[in-house]
Amino acid sequence: MPINKFWLGHLDLNKKVHIYGGGISGLLAAYRFQKEGIDFTLHEKSNRLGGKLQTDLTEHGPVEWAANAIVHSPEVEKLLSDLELTPIAATKGLKKCVYRKGKIQSFPPLSFLELLKVFKNLFRPIPPLSNCSLKEAFTPLLSEEICDEVLTPIFRGVYATGSEDLSATAVIPGLSQFEGLPYHNFFSSKLKNRSPLQSLSFKGGMQEFIDALSKKVRDHCNLNSNTPLQENSLVCTDPHSAAELLKSHPDINNLLNSIESVPIHSSCFVLKDEIKELKGCFGLLFNAKESKNIMGILANHEIFPQREYPKFSYTVISKTKINIDDVPLLTNYKTSLVEQKMFSHSYGLPLYNSNLIKVQKKLDKQEDAAFFGNYTDSISLRKLVELTSS
Ligand SMILES: Cc1cc2nc3c(=O)[nH]c(=O)nc-3n(C[C@H](O)[C@H](O)[C@H](O)COP(=O)(O)OP(=O)(O)OC[C@H]3O[C@@H](n4cnc5c(N)ncnc54)[C@H](O)[C@@H]3O)c2cc1C
Repeated sequence: MPINKFWLGHLDLNKKVHIYGGGISGLLAAYRFQKEGIDFTLHEKSNRLGGKLQTDLTEHGPVEWAANAIVHSPEVEKLLSDLELTPIAATKGLKKCVYRKGKIQSFPPLSFLELLKVFKNLFRPIPPLSNCSLKEAFTPLLSEEICDEVLTPIFRGVYATGSEDLSATAVIPGLSQFEGLPYHNFFSSKLKNRSPLQSLSFKGGMQEFIDALSKKVRDHCNLNSNTPLQENSLVCTDPHSAAELLKSHPDINNLLNSIESVPIHSSCFVLKDEIKELKGCFGLLFNAKESKNIMGILANHEIFPQREYPKFSYTVISKTKINIDDVPLLTNYKTSLVEQKMFSHSYGLPLYNSNLIKVQKKLDKQEDAAFFGNYTDSISLRKLVELTSS
């Protein structure tokens, strides 16, 4: 079966391919090439595979450096079965909450009157979407206040950026088909094709996923590599490292450097006591008005109880380095703190704004290299798996 083009730019699959970067993107590309019998070498700069995905196994349970979970899809299920991995599924029925107007509110965090207004606005048309932010695209439906207080926290939980800074079509790819049509057409189609969002991980954390994938392609991997860019390369690093690799191509270097990024810090707080307000909750999302730096809190012991956490484990995602005093709710549990571990990613996530869409189009026209990563189509691990599936 011909291989689907999951990268941007040009690659000749009849010749040896050089993959740069052994994070999840590079590993997934390598695994696909191996299955198709394509000759390749994977060059990884550091001494380990996995990139940002890494798990520390501590006496208080697994602690993730970055992603906590991958969302289920048929392609993810197929890959995990090929890798002979048995995932654990997040507890069903946990409440997903938003901190709004000083209170924890579960979904939908809207008053009866607000729900009525939104329902009425479902018949309004989706505005023109070219260069339109997510907030601009949804203000006619939700109002500016609900965009800031509800839409922003949902998307901040994934992209670490408010709805005003995200491009509507970059974060909701199918939306442009519905431009000019009533919002309800878009939502009806979403509901028809909806599959339940089930988060999966592993007893030993996301490292198990990396280890299984690495085992499949290890013989083709060159660790501690500083090999300069070769002909017929697939660059699977973050955009700034990609720009560095392509220093001798000023146009591509400039394009890659123009991609903005958001720094992210992932902190795990182990507490002796349970945060009673978060009992039965998956987590809690914050809007930028109520917490500028904190994106959200995940209750690890509630999400994956199969891991038998000996104490109460919470992951906080933030824009800057934090301690317990900086986190709403957690600050009340200072005397209960057993341990805090923080992992910082100065190049955390690419900013999914309208510039990124322009850059993607230009990168796809390049003849000298090809690119695949969390800035070429989607941030999520699920989508990276889907793109590299046959
Ligand atoms: C805190 C955090 C939480 C997240 N949570 C989730 C989640 O729950 N679910 C989800 O789906 N996604 C999540 N994501 C997103 C997801 O983790 C990332 O999109 C994904 O891990 C990126 O993988 P990557 O391989 O593209 O890049 P990276 O992991 O950055 O890997 C790039 C690799 O390239 C190597 N490299 C760099 N330069 C060179 C060079 N010159 N030569 C060779 N190698 C080089 C690096 O050493 C690295 O190993 C999260 C991200 C963060 C930061």
